[in-house]
Amino acid sequence: MGKEALKLIPKVDVLLAQDALQGLEQDYTHDQLREAVRAYLDGLRAAVLDGTVQEVGTPEQVAADVANTLRRRGAYSLRPVINATGVVLHTNLGRAPLGHEVAQHVAQVAEGYSNLEYNLERGERGIRYAHIEKVICEVTGAEAAMVVNNNAGAVFLMLNTLCQGQGVAVSRGEEVEIGGAFRVPEIMVRSGANLIEVGTTNKTHLSDYQRALSEQGAKALLKVHTSNFVMVGFTENVSVAELAQIAKPAGALVLYDMGAAPLYPLQIPGLGQQDTIKGLLKDGADVVCFSGDKLAGSAQGGILVGRKDLIDRIKKNQLTRMLRIDKMSLAALEMTMQLYRDPKQAAEKIPVVRMLAMDAEACRAHARALDERIANEVPGIGHQVLDVQDEVGGGSMPGVMLDGAAVAIDVPGLAAAELERRLRDVPKPVITRLYKDRVLVCVRTLQEGDDGLVCEALAEVARGVNTEGIS
Ligand SMILES: *Cc1c(COP(=O)(O)O)cnc(C)c1O
Repeated sequence: MGKEALKLIPKVDVLLAQDALQGLEQDYTHDQLREAVRAYLDGLRAAVLDGTVQEVGTPEQVAADVANTLRRRGAYSLRPVINATGVVLHTNLGRAPLGHEVAQHVAQVAEGYSNLEYNLERGERGIRYAHIEKVICEVTGAEAAMVVNNNAGAVFLMLNTLCQGQGVAVSRGEEVEIGGAFRVPEIMVRSGANLIEVGTTNKTHLSDYQRALSEQGAKALLKVHTSNFVMVGFTENVSVAELAQIAKPAGALVLYDMGAAPLYPLQIPGLGQQDTIKGLLKDGADVVCFSGDKLAGSAQGGILVGRKDLIDRIKKNQLTRMLRIDKMSLAALEMTMQLYRDPKQAAEKIPVVRMLAMDAEACRAHARALDERIANEVPGIGHQVLDVQDEVGGGSMPGVMLDGAAVAIDVPGLAAAELERRLRDVPKPVITRLYKDRVLVCVRTLQEGDDGLVCEALAEVARGVNTEGIS
């Protein structure tokens, strides 16, 4: 048989005419169905050629297979998944999830027209940043604020506006690389600022910055949060407050790329003092920038806060037009910032804040409830509540472990790696954690409604194993 089977692969139009696919015409457009059939046939052809598939079914069978795959995978490449990894800001899973209320608000703004750049009082052109500047200032204590597309853009814009052609001192211990090829020294060069490296990898003293100011003519001191690694041992770095003390008399700026920043001290069990934006501005930072979708728990965005004269210059930079934030992100950010006015509201409605605040007992209670539900709804699989260590993730708070809980799953007849894979191939994929040859469903990152979907996914996978056993 072998490659002869290629000739038996049904034509696209023949498949589209089969009942199984005709039945999906209500839920999918014709083009989506055609695309799904094409993709399926490409896979089938490749499988026949490499010998993994020997025989091709009838058009009815093939069409039923395509329909099943489509039902499982949906029509879109980008789609929702369940985060059961226990990593709160999972870079590969879209970082911060928006809460339901915030997502509803975004949908409303997106669905129709909005006053994005329209002043409703005066009936004339308005400014997109006006919607958010006041509330950011309110929750951060800043004089002025500005928002762009992401924090990488914010760092670039800050340096390009305030430091072009001027020396900027950066500690050698803070010349970091962030995921996606964002390297501080290269960004500096591209922005037109002149990098003045100070200190050593592990230790930078105030006197190193002092020399950069007095001997090398530095016009700004830039601090970069070492957000995705920790240095332990014989280390030293200099605080914003100390930098401000030497920068002010020299007429230099103190800038801080903070990356992941909380709006107020997060209630993370076991975690001590954290820098907040408000504190850094009080300590004398002139401009601080941070991500909207890391610890701030909102949409992608780069938020710049600080001195009004400097933020005004940043607003006037032509580059802002290239880095400008979209209306959907702006809507999410405005509502999130409003929620931060009241810590209770924030803890309830901002998922990242809520998830980080969960202590071990809260996680265990959730894991026990899920475990019981699995016992009732998915007979015949192994399940056990375990203590685990969760992570903040998103290149923030490296080394900080959160005491959490999980349900370890075992499906008889299925290796852990295969179970993990099959849980990714269900209508709402469940991304689990593989640990010591076990599949863990970590509960900290589950959202409302996810428990039921996890049970459905487990039932579907278990059914698949059973029917394989029979045939
Ligand atoms: C994450 C991060 C960035 C990049 O922010 P994005 O919002 O991903 O563009 C820049 N600097 C630091 C220190 C970061 O942690």
